[in-house]
Amino acid sequence: MGIYVHIPFCRSKCYYCGFYSVASTQLKKAYIAALGHEIQLRKDYLDTSEVKTLYFGGGTPSWLSMDELTDIVTTLEMNFALNCVAERTIEANPEDITRDKLKGWRALGFDRLSIGIQSFNDEVLKRINRTHTAQDALRSVEWAADSGFENIGIDLILGLPGYTRLHLQQDMEIVNHLPIIHLSVYLLSIDSNTVFEKLMQKGRFQPQTDDELADQYLWVSDYLKSIGFEHYEISNFAKNSKYSLHNTSYWQQQKYVGFGPAAHSFDLNSRQWNVAHLKSYIDNLANDRLSFEKEILTDKDKFNEYIMTNLRTMWGIQEEKMQLQFPDFSKTVRPKLAPFLENGSVVCQNGRIRLTEKGWLVSDDVFSDLFVV
Ligand code: SF4
Repeated sequence: MGIYVHIPFCRSKCYYCGFYSVASTQLKKAYIAALGHEIQLRKDYLDTSEVKTLYFGGGTPSWLSMDELTDIVTTLEMNFALNCVAERTIEANPEDITRDKLKGWRALGFDRLSIGIQSFNDEVLKRINRTHTAQDALRSVEWAADSGFENIGIDLILGLPGYTRLHLQQDMEIVNHLPIIHLSVYLLSIDSNTVFEKLMQKGRFQPQTDDELADQYLWVSDYLKSIGFEHYEISNFAKNSKYSLHNTSYWQQQKYVGFGPAAHSFDLNSRQWNVAHLKSYIDNLANDRLSFEKEILTDKDKFNEYIMTNLRTMWGIQEEKMQLQFPDFSKTVRPKLAPFLENGSVVCQNGRIRLTEKGWLVSDDVFSDLFVV
């Protein structure tokens, strides 16, 4: 099982970001107390399952002071057996990364660092309201490697305003010389309640076309493969099989518990998500109340999720396993695959059904055709 902790504070909102966070630290102290309380109240959510991965995401976990972070990790350690954890990840923004913090994170057992860089071009970073520069980004990776982090990953986004094919090539040249072994490359999507959504509605922002994005995606994928990365999930690349264990556990539908506003939890049969409102989250916990919504998964939901999560990865669907787990629904899959096999979006090899790179670009179409409704 995995544990996810959401730290919902950011210096300012990036224009593309749809994750739940607030651009103020006014409630930080109250939040950390409420989070500790939620951890205690939920400690039996996943019975006696062994914790395999711990992930601090956000928001901006790297913005926490060492005392605040230590406080949260200590509470987790008091309530869960973390001695078998195989991966402890902390997400960090370049401007927060100092040699002292890196040392402190390692002392707390974090062995994987995921740095939100998005682009190595200062003009592009300004246009999306990031609070770091390309120089900060380069320095942060260098310091992380110096401090002993061997598992360093970064995030980049394709399709940002003003981000051209030339920028992309320059960024990939930089990636090639960085001591990183994991890279997440996202295509810009216009999420609800973001500045980009508002600008688009006012006609002041025109996203790149699907064809332009597809061209960049396929180019990046080829380039990264040529320098030793494996494209193991729609948006994720790794060297030396250093896949993100935490995220892979989501795609393999393992159990997880999430703490903090908007965090999700999954126990194989139901999914629940905490209220995406910091003040309500804190107020409810002050009254010993958890505030979440819950959905019980039907057999159809489980099958559809199985299709969607497995086809996201290079391992794809193991047909025999699918037939055992979903004897009725699995019969519907093969007949629906014909057009995708024909146009090269899907391949069936060695008992597995997989999407190709081209297939990942149209994955939503494949998923919706294979879903049982
Ligand atoms: S991208 Fe990260 S830093 Fe920017 S607003 Fe979203 S959570 Fe905060």
